[in-house]
Amino acid sequence: MTEILELRLDELHAIGALPDGGTYRPLYSDAWAEAVKRVERWFKDAGLKTTRDAVGTLWGRAEGTDKGKSIVTGSHIDTVRRGGRLDGALGIVAGLTAVETLLATKGKPRRTLEVVAICEEEGSRFATNFWGSRAITGRIDKVDADIAQAMRERGLDPAKISAAARDDIDTFVELHIEQGALLEASGAALAVVSAIVGTAHLEVTVTGRPDHAGTTPMELRRDALAGAAVMIQAVESVARSLGKPAVATVGRVRAEPDQINVIPGRAVFTIDLRHSDLSARKALEQRIRSLCATVASERGLQFAIRMLQEWPPVPMHPEVRAVLARAAQDTGVAAEEMVSGAGHDAQILAARCRVGMLFVPSIGGRSHCPEETTSPEHLALGTHVLQRALELLAY
Ligand SMILES: [Zn+2]
Repeated sequence: MTEILELRLDELHAIGALPDGGTYRPLYSDAWAEAVKRVERWFKDAGLKTTRDAVGTLWGRAEGTDKGKSIVTGSHIDTVRRGGRLDGALGIVAGLTAVETLLATKGKPRRTLEVVAICEEEGSRFATNFWGSRAITGRIDKVDADIAQAMRERGLDPAKISAAARDDIDTFVELHIEQGALLEASGAALAVVSAIVGTAHLEVTVTGRPDHAGTTPMELRRDALAGAAVMIQAVESVARSLGKPAVATVGRVRAEPDQINVIPGRAVFTIDLRHSDLSARKALEQRIRSLCATVASERGLQFAIRMLQEWPPVPMHPEVRAVLARAAQDTGVAAEEMVSGAGHDAQILAARCRVGMLFVPSIGGRSHCPEETTSPEHLALGTHVLQRALELLAY
């Protein structure tokens, strides 16, 4: 199995490969279209009936002997800029390889089995995060002009997006790389995901007073950036003190007027907050808000916090988790349970079907970069467990 996995992953990785390393297959680009075509050919060669939905997501279907909803596996086909070889690609290649093997060895499934190459998840070209899975769950209500134009260039009609919605999926399971270093640290070869973290994106604006850097003594300053710096340290220490899986990141800072000899009158920074438990995530946010308020009042600053975006944590379905755990056991693999710190299509699809995910270790925890790798043994092992899970669900 290792050989065919590596071969297909190499083939996909070459589509959109950049001269300085990594690959880039943004939604509706030439590389994206070529990759979809390649996977479509693989699906057909495996005996799957292929269709493309209204946003360009590719489905490969093996009809079951029973009527009823489908068992689906797969992942997203788009990548971030200078992305690696496995994020998304693994779930498609492993899903196809698992289904192909099942069809060859076990024959026609009882439940309809489908492999999906979801058109987009990363939001790396447009502000479209989860575009494919949002279309599947009927949750796209507006289409920006630039996306609509890109769709038309690929022969897709933006007015027909609602036709992509599905209500005939029973279960979605996805094999993905961990994109972190927890499995590597624990030495486990596989994880069954228990939940996908909830994320809040906040923007904090600190307002002080711009003054002359030479003539304003220290005690008379209302330095917005110095205040923001104390707040940023507080953000980090609050997350540390709450412990795993709480994380908080300040990724962007801007000072105004951004002059070497002027005391900053305004500072704006972002906070990315994540936790698998919604009340813990809200508690984290509350602690940060109150610490920022303390810092602002001590320094004579004003501050405002704006919520930019919020995604709730999504637990994986307990029955699917149990199937995945059993599949690991049947395959002789000791699997851990883990919370996913990254977002995945499963969190969107959970609104319409039962979902579950498997993670294999990322070497050095590296992901979203050309160095993204997982050992061939772990790739094969994850695919074997996925295959067993699909067998338990569909046969
Ligand atoms: Zn991914």
